[in-house]
Amino acid sequence: QTIPQVTLNNGVKMPQFGLGVYKMNDAEQLKQAIKWAIADGYRLIDTAMFYHNEQWVGDAIKESGIDRKKLFITSKLWNADRGYENTKKAFNDSLKRLGLDYLDLYLIHWPAEGYLESWRAMVDLYHAGKIRAIGVSNFQPHHLDTLAAHSDVVPVVDQIETHPLFQQKAVHGYLMQHDIAHEAWAPLGQGKGNILSNPSLKEIAAKYNKTPAQIVLRWHINRGVIIIPKSTHEQRLAENIDIFDFKLTDEEMQKIAELDQNKRLSHSPDDKE
Ligand code: NAD
Repeated sequence: QTIPQVTLNNGVKMPQFGLGVYKMNDAEQLKQAIKWAIADGYRLIDTAMFYHNEQWVGDAIKESGIDRKKLFITSKLWNADRGYENTKKAFNDSLKRLGLDYLDLYLIHWPAEGYLESWRAMVDLYHAGKIRAIGVSNFQPHHLDTLAAHSDVVPVVDQIETHPLFQQKAVHGYLMQHDIAHEAWAPLGQGKGNILSNPSLKEIAAKYNKTPAQIVLRWHINRGVIIIPKSTHEQRLAENIDIFDFKLTDEEMQKIAELDQNKRLSHSPDDKE
């Protein structure tokens, strides 16, 4: 499988597809999932301090024997660690837990108050060569506007909830306009809301001899969105990456666009403030 690369606004290339490890709470299961994924061709791994599994991710990377430089590792700054000094410390702690000497991408997990100070620390870590690219998560356009008013460094990505039932059409437009890559969390809608038994998706899936999950993932890829679907099952890990041998037609893309219910799984980032 050849995974497309997205060129971020600072020139760094990021795989458009990878593995999310949220709620992987069992060390052996997580390490097995990562090893299967790497063998399947996954190169991007998305973790966070908040997932409390960075250490196991680091162990899995080492045990897999893959050259670290071939991987693209993302972690995230948790809300409790906001502020300039705390951010630097939290970043270094994440690095230590992962057993790495640099991160490919570090994100502010939520736009909690104090994110401007956190961003300043991340910019300094970026300039010091500790992180190849810095970005944000769960930021609304107004948060990005605030950031732009206070910093010359534009986030490379915004990682936001995105799936067929919550497509983020307005934010997607904003991000494209500002050269910020759109990264989806919950790209499969966490398998909730009967999304994977939707008749339109099933019909398209039958045409390509794929599963509805693969159709949803391919829809994101066609849309230019970076995806990190989570699974711990060997067969699903293989299934989720097996989406680069077909494309959807404009008409099929349109059909999926019409499934949008503007319905979040999570709370709105604006409720947090
Ligand atoms: P997801 O949409 O990736 O759904 C994962 C679930 O979908 C699995 O637990 C499984 O039940 C099901 N699934 C996976 N593959 C399937 C398949 N082939 N067929 C049928 N069902 C399948 O949801 P997620 O894990 O919440 O999101 C992905 C990643 O995004 C996370 O692991 C994490 O890295 C990241 N994330 C970030 C934030 C944030 O605030 N930045 C929030 C949530 C998740």
